[in-house]
Amino acid sequence: MISVDEALAAVLNLVAPLETEAVPLRAANGRVLSKSVTAQRSQPPFAASSMDGYALRRAEVEPDACVGCRECMRVCQFGAIVYSASTIKVAIDQRRCYGCGICRSLCKKNAIRLNDRNRVPAAANLW
Ligand code: SF4
Ligand code: SF4
Repeated sequence: MISVDEALAAVLNLVAPLETEAVPLRAANGRVLSKSVTAQRSQPPFAASSMDGYALRRAEVEPDACVGCRECMRVCQFGAIVYSASTIKVAIDQRRCYGCGICRSLCKKNAIRLNDRNRVPAAANLW
């Protein structure tokens, strides 16, 4: 009996790498790339939001109205809402908020409003 390494070496000795050849993209189906392929430009080729319709606004919390229940944090998919144990209130990270408005619709204290993004210097030119 031979070892796995010996068996592997015996099998690999029977084959040799094929030469590479350039073929049109349409003829490449089923073939294997001989080297990595890198895109020559970004797609889309311009700065864009990942979600159409978002990003024109951003949320803001009215501190006096917020009771710190944190219900809004539960629904923000972007992790844009932060809770402060010292103030017992939440605040919005303006750089992470996409303005989807889901948090606002959930706030029973009506403490969240949406404003134009371009009014916030920290967030105006992010995308
Ligand atoms: S849901 Fe409203 S009241 Fe509750 S933490 Fe969020 S902003 Fe504050
Ligand atoms: S508006 Fe959307 S992205 Fe911004 S804090 Fe609320 S849930 Fe998060």
